[in-house]
Amino acid sequence: MIIDINLVAKKSKIKYLQSKIQMKYYSLNHKAPNVSFKEALIKGLATDKGLYFPETITPLAPTFFDAIENMSHEEIAFEAIQQFVGDEIPEETLKHIIAETLCFNFPVVQVEKDIYSLELFHGPTMAFKDVGARFMSRCLGYFNKDNKNSKNTVLVATSGDTGGAVASGFLGVKGVEVIILYPSGKVSDIQERQLTTLGQNIKALEVDGVFDDCQDMVKKAFLDESLKHKNLTSANSINIARWLPQMFYFFFAYKALKKENKPIVFSCPSGNFGNICAGIIAKKLGLPIEHFVASTNVNDTVPRFLENGIYDPMPSIATISNAMDVGNPSNFIRIQEMYQNDLEQFKKDFSSFTFSDAETIEAMKTIYNTEGYIAEPHGAVGYLGLKKELQNHPTAIGIFLETAHPIKFLDTVEQTLNVKLPIPTQIESVLGKVKVSVKIKTYEELKVFLG
Ligand SMILES: *Cc1c(COP(=O)(O)O)cnc(C)c1O
Repeated sequence: MIIDINLVAKKSKIKYLQSKIQMKYYSLNHKAPNVSFKEALIKGLATDKGLYFPETITPLAPTFFDAIENMSHEEIAFEAIQQFVGDEIPEETLKHIIAETLCFNFPVVQVEKDIYSLELFHGPTMAFKDVGARFMSRCLGYFNKDNKNSKNTVLVATSGDTGGAVASGFLGVKGVEVIILYPSGKVSDIQERQLTTLGQNIKALEVDGVFDDCQDMVKKAFLDESLKHKNLTSANSINIARWLPQMFYFFFAYKALKKENKPIVFSCPSGNFGNICAGIIAKKLGLPIEHFVASTNVNDTVPRFLENGIYDPMPSIATISNAMDVGNPSNFIRIQEMYQNDLEQFKKDFSSFTFSDAETIEAMKTIYNTEGYIAEPHGAVGYLGLKKELQNHPTAIGIFLETAHPIKFLDTVEQTLNVKLPIPTQIESVLGKVKVSVKIKTYEELKVFLG
């Protein structure tokens, strides 16, 4: 079949003109007004504490999927996201934001027969969170461009990877100050340097406590009326502008493997379930995905829910895949919204399995010893879930998301596989820099710092 790209482009333009209306977002708690893309981005969470969700999801034209292998990543991303942004960012600006967001590659690497790793770690901080952080920061920068008097303050608590991606993504963005809270002594040396060495509009607060203490302070600050003038916003995956762009890489993987002409199963190593939830949006847009697997470590709230239908969150348990140590995944409610709480329908498209650290270590060894591929613990959990689910899909190919570069989990990877990892340039550039942080212990000290 010959595909006329110009025709596709023209058609999509027409579609774009027709869709040049505002997308509205509603709160999943249903007790707050609907808002625009801009407001949802700036507020982060609705006034009733609900997560925002788009009012409509309109599938993309079949011509888009026919032509996808001839489109660039930027063109694909534009088609996928434009309805969610609507007319609030001009087309040319949005394209520019997307180009800056996608400044790196998303290789699909064959690991074994019918199993592929979608490598999401080639960005500036070597974590998949770079995509969402870069997109969100640039949208916020655009909305702030004429705002000379007031600033937005992005406040984030991090257990490691989120902070680095947010710091790098927002570096130098005008009108935005970023304040990152991290638990002193509880993040790796590389992660700490990624948070504390950038300078400019990025400030790091080193909290004498654990991650939950950081998280509690951030939550308290969002509810604090006396901090209203700071225009606080969040930059984790509850924010639509950090969450939605994560759908891009499901399209990119499909583009890469479409020629195989087989059903595709995706396995996402899941913590807050933002990634997999973005994948389900991609499916709603028409991307032919046969099945999703949410692979978790022993923080198994969702696997238990699929077993017995009871959503029973628990305090988080520390594991070697620590970016997934989440006891109450915040995006799961968005997934339930898309399936309208129909558990049976949901199970047709979605499975979720839990794996221990011992199983994760075994998987890392197996992947390395038989195929020579180095997976870090999160990717290995994704691999395990994929292997399990593929037994039910004999004709399918499987893709697991490799969400971080092995160097980010250096100690575990080097000890488990008995290898020495070369330091990538992105990491080397922060290693020589001097850490700058402010130590705090209490919420009052945070308030004083915020001013
Ligand atoms: C954040 C993170 C995850 C979990 O992603 P969610 O979207 O929260 O499910 C998995 N792996 C790594 C390395 C991460 O940093």
